[in-house]
Amino acid sequence: MTSQEPRHLWEGLPDEAGKEIGPEGEPVGRDPRTMTTDELRALGHKPMTPTKAIRAHCLDCCGGSAKEVRWCVAADCPAWPFRMGVSPYRAKRTLTEAQRERLALSKKSSLSARAARDGSSEGCPGTPARLPQIDRSEPDASAD
Ligand code: SF4
Repeated sequence: MTSQEPRHLWEGLPDEAGKEIGPEGEPVGRDPRTMTTDELRALGHKPMTPTKAIRAHCLDCCGGSAKEVRWCVAADCPAWPFRMGVSPYRAKRTLTEAQRERLALSKKSSLSARAARDGSSEGCPGTPARLPQIDRSEPDASAD
């Protein structure tokens, strides 16, 4: 270790794993961009999307009440638009019929692969209800 590298407090001290010595000689939070996923997990963090993290923060802000998060009136809070766990700025994806069919086939084949890997021939009991039912019958020619 050179004298230029920051000194870390976390070695051997799990509760200090999120801190390092800052420029003033005081403990400061580590930069998560320089941390491994194992180090983040050791601190109790699970992988999640930023919007899910904001949702978790809002639940914490409201004492764990989803109803209070929904009713939050602090519209000037930067987290406010994201408090329901999704980004309102992200366009909803509208699938074409062909895309829906491809997605259904892809799900079906990955479930089959999982069942084969796990040695189960039945798969998940909820599978038929979750997969869209695709009508593969020929169109009625007499309807033209
Ligand atoms: S939007 Fe801001 S004030 Fe409202 S619940 Fe989330 S963190 Fe708290």
